[in-house]
Amino acid sequence: MTNYVVIGASHAGISFVEKMRQQGNQDKITVIDRLSGIPLQRPPLSKAYLSADSDDEAPFHLRNHDWFEQQSVTLKDGISVERISRDDKSLSLSDGTSVTYDKLILALGAVPRRLPVPEMDAQNIFVLRDGVDAKGLRKAMKSAKTAIVIGGGYIGLEAAASLKKQGLDVHVIEAAPRLLARVASPQISQAYHQLHQENGVIIHQNVGVDKLLTTDGAISGVMLASGEEISCDLLLVGIGVIPETSLAEQAGLTIGNGLLTDYHYQTNDADIYAIGDNVLAEGRGDMRIESIHNAQYGGHYLASRFNDEKLPQIEAPWFWSDQYDRKLQSAGLVPAPADDVMQATRAGKREGGLSVWSYKSGKLVAVESINDPQAYMIGKICLEKGASPAPADIENPDFELKSLR
Ligand code: NAP
Repeated sequence: MTNYVVIGASHAGISFVEKMRQQGNQDKITVIDRLSGIPLQRPPLSKAYLSADSDDEAPFHLRNHDWFEQQSVTLKDGISVERISRDDKSLSLSDGTSVTYDKLILALGAVPRRLPVPEMDAQNIFVLRDGVDAKGLRKAMKSAKTAIVIGGGYIGLEAAASLKKQGLDVHVIEAAPRLLARVASPQISQAYHQLHQENGVIIHQNVGVDKLLTTDGAISGVMLASGEEISCDLLLVGIGVIPETSLAEQAGLTIGNGLLTDYHYQTNDADIYAIGDNVLAEGRGDMRIESIHNAQYGGHYLASRFNDEKLPQIEAPWFWSDQYDRKLQSAGLVPAPADDVMQATRAGKREGGLSVWSYKSGKLVAVESINDPQAYMIGKICLEKGASPAPADIENPDFELKSLR
């Protein structure tokens, strides 16, 4: 019997465990996570979780309370792994005990980037990555009237929509010249800028934060690089994530922009594997993919390899984001603007529907849609087939997208 130990009980680690059991594997599996309690799903943490009236966490559990026992999986929650000893294949844990492994799976994820200032420790400043962060923010939202969100990426914008829904005045500050600059095309950035403005969010873009203002140790506002001062009752920092690599680095595993593995998610130690947000796997693109789908795929792939089962199909990377009444769906990786990059835009059939098809050197590389699931689905099929429909067809409202399937 093989003794599997998984560090990290989020989407990647749990997907691995689930697939192992679905494929009939009955080996010993232990999952260790530094957070206490049943792990939570991440996507609702910036949306439904923040708007929830009750403290009941059950609707947000990643798997229900009994699942771990039913799957014969030991969950060691509220425990950190402090050290990996590769020589004797053991882990030192924060409760003073140790466990051994035959195969170790690192599903460590990433940690939110923080502003490098001492005010980050104030009690009304938040990051948003896990349930503890979300719970703190939800509590603070109840008595706050004004919120500032630093960072106009997915986290910042989803949280801004949730804060607005709770009736707060909301400012979003984005250092880049447009919202969602890292992940979306200029057309989608513009659409989300307009959407947030229509909902009363005040957006400051292309401007940095010069300093955080405090009163009696609490954040009372920010001063922008332009000299403008904005006051607030709470501040959320959503400025990206840093891959969690310290444990792996200490164990002598190979690190670059994340934990480096071969194509099969094996690290430079034949008994240690890594999946999820913090992994850069050889031959799978040159950037880390921070998405739920990528986390699940890694878990499924690894389990299928261990069990000698059919490997999951490769899909184009996909993402979604719910803000107000709009659903953004995106497949592929949107290229940064460049001379050889162009976009074709198409109106959708539903109200507010839109899709943006991005081409690099004439090749379709990404499709984003707002309230247009058909365009998203067909675009994703094209990406996976390697098909590049003519931009003129995409822009022609009489052209039937279905003909591309
Ligand atoms: P993100 O996508 O990297 O966006 C952060 C934004 O903040 C970037 O536009 C960044 O600009 C900007 N920024 C950085 N430093 C700043 C500063 N000092 N002042 C103002 N703006 C600043 O990261 P995120 O939104 O924090 O999300 C964290 C992770 O969670 C990501 O992996 C994201 O994909 C994931 N997530 C995904 C979803 C979804 O798929 N729906 C939802 C929530 C979270 P620069 O790029 O120029 O630095």
